[in-house]
Amino acid sequence: MWFYETLHSEIKLGIKGRLLHKKKTPYQQCCIYQTKNFGRLLLLDDAIQTTEYDEYIYHEMLVHPALISLYKPKSVLIVGGGDGGALREVLKHPVEEVVMVEIDKDVIELSKKYLPSLSKGAFSDKRLGLIIDDGAKYINETGKKFDAVIIDSPDPVGPAKSLFSLKFYQSVFNVLKAGGIMIRQSGSTFLQSGELKSNYRKISKIFPYAAVQIAAIPTYIGGFFSFILGSKKINIRRLNEKNIEERVLSLDLKTKYYNSQIQKASFILPNKIKERIK
Ligand code: SAM
Repeated sequence: MWFYETLHSEIKLGIKGRLLHKKKTPYQQCCIYQTKNFGRLLLLDDAIQTTEYDEYIYHEMLVHPALISLYKPKSVLIVGGGDGGALREVLKHPVEEVVMVEIDKDVIELSKKYLPSLSKGAFSDKRLGLIIDDGAKYINETGKKFDAVIIDSPDPVGPAKSLFSLKFYQSVFNVLKAGGIMIRQSGSTFLQSGELKSNYRKISKIFPYAAVQIAAIPTYIGGFFSFILGSKKINIRRLNEKNIEERVLSLDLKTKYYNSQIQKASFILPNKIKERIK
């Protein structure tokens, strides 16, 4: 059977696949499909979240550029990320603790059962503190401080809406340690340029340093996919290349997309995208 992701009212992406599981959770409709070209994939409210075929690009680029920019990060907060891909990549670093705040426990359970290749056992790591809650609520209430905050959310729809406001980014700033860094996914540079532009503006208002990174992720149609970083002290685009290279080599991250050259290259933006975020 064919199923269609409706990204905009006028654009649909059709993929042929077999429905493996469907569940209406208290927050969203969660579907898992088996497909020929993309492997298994997770849909939330009919939006493709992640696929076995190319999830590594997204999760490596969501995690490593921020953590490698920091000198020996110890505590990381992941907001969302119920499929476990971001958690798997964070745990490749010698962090002392990872707090994951995911609003929908069903996404975790279904991902562990149907998409085990994403978390690869990461949910059993003793460094993980798993909290089932709204990420914005947790960040407002916690007294903890983190070296990095990774926002692995869907687009600003449904329960994720609370993760895109200026107030939310201010609260992220407040839970970050003095030299802390945040990163978030900010959608397709061509089909969701409004999401990129508005969130870059908000993050630039709160953080002394803000930067956009891009990566090509086949599942996310519409050209380059984007990530926005906010940094309290480190100028993430001006890091010493030698330091980056040494840190990447010393960690042996076993990545399939990210490397120390990509760290630098992914900040280089086409003119059209630079203009869009001005
Ligand atoms: N890793 C995915 C990818 O590759 O694009 C990103 C999507 S991940 C599945 C998004 C997660 O964010 C979902 O599990 C969803 O339940 C969770 N989520 C949505 N709104 C949230 C909120 N306000 N607080 C915490 N988690 C939230």
